[in-house]
Amino acid sequence: MVDDPGLKALGEAARLSPDNLPLRRHLAEQLLNKGYLADAEAEFRAALVLAPKDPDIMAGLAEAFVRQSSHGEALSALEPLLAVGGYPPRVGVLAARALLGEGSVHKAAYRYHEAVSRDPSVADADLAARLVIPLPAATAPSAPPAATAPSAPSVSPAPPPQPAGSTYLGPSSATHERSTAEVERSAFSFADVAGMDEVKEALRVKLLLPVQQPELFAAFGKRAGGGVLLYGPPGVGKTHLARAAAGELGAAFVSVGLADILDMYIGSSERNLRATFDLARRHRPCVLFFDEVDALAARRSDMRQAHSRQLVNQFLSELDGVDQSANEGVLVLAATNAPWYIDVAFRRPGRFDQLVFVPPPDAEARAAILRILCRDKPLAEVDFGAVAKVTDQFVGADLKGLVDRAVEIKLQESIRAGRPIPLSTRDLLAAAKAARPTAVREWMATARNYVMHANESGAWDELMPWIQRKW
Ligand code: ADP
Repeated sequence: MVDDPGLKALGEAARLSPDNLPLRRHLAEQLLNKGYLADAEAEFRAALVLAPKDPDIMAGLAEAFVRQSSHGEALSALEPLLAVGGYPPRVGVLAARALLGEGSVHKAAYRYHEAVSRDPSVADADLAARLVIPLPAATAPSAPPAATAPSAPSVSPAPPPQPAGSTYLGPSSATHERSTAEVERSAFSFADVAGMDEVKEALRVKLLLPVQQPELFAAFGKRAGGGVLLYGPPGVGKTHLARAAAGELGAAFVSVGLADILDMYIGSSERNLRATFDLARRHRPCVLFFDEVDALAARRSDMRQAHSRQLVNQFLSELDGVDQSANEGVLVLAATNAPWYIDVAFRRPGRFDQLVFVPPPDAEARAAILRILCRDKPLAEVDFGAVAKVTDQFVGADLKGLVDRAVEIKLQESIRAGRPIPLSTRDLLAAAKAARPTAVREWMATARNYVMHANESGAWDELMPWIQRKW
């Protein structure tokens, strides 16, 4: 409850004049300055409806989130800004705070130092002290090539934590450069991905058939190769789908995040990228997956710094390979929430020549996702359709959060009762009531702008039916 008379008067004025953007923005900033964080968040949201692309409002909203420790939401709010090169340095520092809050120290350090290198006045000693800067990968001692190394037994380091459904195959055997990415065996297949039938079919044709039935492809003079860019709102299951594609194919899976590539030292990012492609080439057949690829493949025209452009050029040349067979058996998948920021050069044949939209799940797909998420839990009779009905706009990640919460509560009840109490429809409905969908509406608003105003090439035609719906 706001008890500051000045703010109350401002709030009243905004209520009487709801479309007055400068007034709303001023109110939001004042609320933020005085620490009324939930109210500031609501006002920034209202202002964002009036001016969906205003960077100051997005940054204000993100700051309100960060100060309430809603780090994931802050990152969603900042995403459109971060995807463009040359974003305001203040935004980089906010992103660093949010990333640190989520435990991504490497990424946070990168964002922070990148921002401070452009504008030293945004430096924050407390934050800097909490960011332990990683040693640049290029200076790490390189092991001898695997082929010539004597296979002396050695004590293996403990494997790092792995995502559910995958097996750690050990650290990459190094050549000249080491990649920090790891090689996994995915235990997921398409059966573990609910819905998305069209998307799966597209991947099957593009990625799987050429490997499973090479004679058929050869007979038609087609070559395997070229990558697929999966795009859509955050949390719809792009990463999950990529991992499942590797499992379906029986291929190794190398998942590459920004922290595996981006490095503050000039030249190191390019070396990391090359090492990562080499890692995938040594483990063919392999699905090489780039998450948040917009940060590595942004439009060169948006970039102020020459070394960022060099990274894009390096990425393009790795995709092309030194010769026709360089990437044979390496299927490159990439995911982005912001496909419009990707340099068009990436869409040429042999690169990410197929764009596949991964849509938010409809009610039927939500029920199927919930069924998959609950399948190894103690269950009473559960009406997944009823839960799907009340979770409009929830994406897979939101549904996972909802199930995790319901399970946690059930576990506490079971501990108190001294026996396992199965999860019921009621528990899931209660968890759904307490949860909010994250980012679909905002994402669709951004997509609408691109489809309506920047779709000369027809690249976003596929989105047309989606943005015409009410979100
Ligand atoms: P994105 O990469 O699009 O941001 P993720 O792949 O990280 O989304 O999805 C988050 C989680 O949501 C996944 O780990 C998975 O558990 C769940 N999920 C999302 N979509 C599906 C789906 N279609 N079927 C089953 N689980 C899903």
